[in-house]
Amino acid sequence: MNQQKALLEDSKNYLWLPFTQMTDYERDPLIIESGEGIKLKDIDGKEYLDGYSSLWLNVHGHRKKEIDDAIKKQLDAISHSTLLGAANVPAIQLAKKLEQITPKNLKRTFYSDSGAESVEIAIKMAYQYWQNKGFKKKTKFVTLSNGYHGDTVGAISVGAVDLYHRVYGSLMFESIKAPFPLVYRSGKKNPDAIRDHALAELREIFQSRHEEIAGITMESIIQGAGGMNIMPKGYLKGVELLCKEYDILLIIDEVATGFGRTGKMFAVEHEDVQPDLMTIAKGITGGYLPVAATMTTEEIYDAFHGEYEEMKTFFHGHSYTGNQLGCAAALANLEIYEKENLIEQVQKKIAIVKEGLDELKDLEYVGDIRQLGLMCGIELVRDNITNEPFPWKERVGYRSTLKMRELGMLTRPLGDIIVFMPPLASTEEELKQMISIMKQAIEETCKEMAG
Ligand code: PLP
Repeated sequence: MNQQKALLEDSKNYLWLPFTQMTDYERDPLIIESGEGIKLKDIDGKEYLDGYSSLWLNVHGHRKKEIDDAIKKQLDAISHSTLLGAANVPAIQLAKKLEQITPKNLKRTFYSDSGAESVEIAIKMAYQYWQNKGFKKKTKFVTLSNGYHGDTVGAISVGAVDLYHRVYGSLMFESIKAPFPLVYRSGKKNPDAIRDHALAELREIFQSRHEEIAGITMESIIQGAGGMNIMPKGYLKGVELLCKEYDILLIIDEVATGFGRTGKMFAVEHEDVQPDLMTIAKGITGGYLPVAATMTTEEIYDAFHGEYEEMKTFFHGHSYTGNQLGCAAALANLEIYEKENLIEQVQKKIAIVKEGLDELKDLEYVGDIRQLGLMCGIELVRDNITNEPFPWKERVGYRSTLKMRELGMLTRPLGDIIVFMPPLASTEEELKQMISIMKQAIEETCKEMAG
């Protein structure tokens, strides 16, 4: 048996992949061996453009010299020591940097290892903050329909993807559901009216239950995994104002939207919003290593500060929290943003993508295209006049991405929504090539499925 075949067999015999029906993998396996720039190469030497930034996190492409060098340099000093009770050099430097680049009210960094964990931390902090302030009844969280904040039990409890509620419902704690101002398929045409309606419903919830609400957990300007849904202009600002009015903490999840993905360093900047807690992960290390953080205000931190007592201690922290290699990678990553003037550079790429996606709008099976910066979703439908979806069992989104794979591009769909989230470093040519692959794959697959 050659080496590739042996690896393939071993992957089928020993691995269990996350969020993956393993029969899908067994039917269409893929084993990545290396990456260069925005291309990934499998064990047979076939190359793929990385159309989803290796799950929404790669920024500068793979094997970026500055980040590679920073990790190697850090290895020569130390690879890991615990952050429990002892700081480390890159963790301090990164926390200082994060204070400079996040909204100006956010000062403290609490590290973790994944986006879901950064959300767990935010909800535990918000809960304990109110307990410490003497507001014992403030224990509940408001969540928006279709919100996604990760896969751990706490994160799915403040998330609202129906599927996870059906599967894990009895494991979760209860949150208060508020409607997301969904524009597509709402039956209404005016985004301002949709925004105002959603804000009015939120006001009602806050008004009647603010005494028991600790915080609202929501994504920033655009929902990712819940369907690439963009909030109507002014909605997030409206939520911020309601939170102030009713003394409710605003917990903003920038795990997917942070680090330039939407055309601003953080999506809250689109509406000059200052959250009380903000979660960040994914792009923080340029897509290299698992680092996440929960950023918070000095006011929240102060509620935990003082001589030792149970409620003043924040009981959270994992073995690898604040890992030096990860923090060194993050620092190198953020230096590149400055050196390459990345946020400005990315504006041209956003325009190129917009132009390219506009050409897909008229395709027979495209119902809607939603784009905020380099975060895009293409929703496939059986009928683009009535927006009738394909039957879910046909898995048109999944099949389309398999076709893209054949054509040399990788992405992962959300049901029948094709996610297009290329690395910020993609060149004009690469962006155009990926859009052309998507077009061909969508046309061929949908035609086949519609029969
Ligand atoms: N929050 C948002 C908005 C996300 O999109 C994700 C992942 O896609 C998460 C949290 C979870 O992040 P992680 O997969 O790093 O746990």
